[in-house]
Amino acid sequence: MKAFEGVTLAFRRFPGVGPKQAERFALYVVRAPDPEIEKLVEALRAVKSSVGYCRECYNYAENVLCSVCADSARDRSLICVVERPQDLAAIEKARSFSGVYHVLHGAVSPAAGITADQIKLKELLERVRAGGGLVKEVIIATNPDTDGEATAMFLTRALKPYVDKISRIACGVPLGGDIDYMDEVTLGHALKGRVKI
Ligand SMILES: [Zn+2]
Repeated sequence: MKAFEGVTLAFRRFPGVGPKQAERFALYVVRAPDPEIEKLVEALRAVKSSVGYCRECYNYAENVLCSVCADSARDRSLICVVERPQDLAAIEKARSFSGVYHVLHGAVSPAAGITADQIKLKELLERVRAGGGLVKEVIIATNPDTDGEATAMFLTRALKPYVDKISRIACGVPLGGDIDYMDEVTLGHALKGRVKI
């Protein structure tokens, strides 16, 4: 069954989906009523055609700017750097941050061979430089694992000449943990308790 295998393989590419689960998803598609699957296909097409990157911060956005960057009440002198859009979403949920963000879409990883050129790092440097002193503080909220730390170190070195204060969220972040798995209270404390580096 070539078509069935094709769908199973497509699901296997989804994060966190193993072979058994991919097969269960594919079986569900076979059994599901046609209108339901048509709706799913339409929703997938719509998300692919309408959602892109925010021009400012590289968060996901349906317009030129994401909802954070489009909000004139946000403090543009404060940039919080995260690895992924879901980290940004987690911090937004904690409601303790009034600045703007920059999404790197990954981390520098010497082990996996991911260099600074492969993530949105130079875009951040350009943004800070173009601001001409507008950016007063950069908070580095990369994950507290090896790659996240390597990225934080790289960023600190690159940003030092352009920004007065560079800080790293520290306390309360479980070592080796993921930013988006932290609860809102812990994340709020981690942001408030950031340390200058
Ligand atoms: Zn944005």
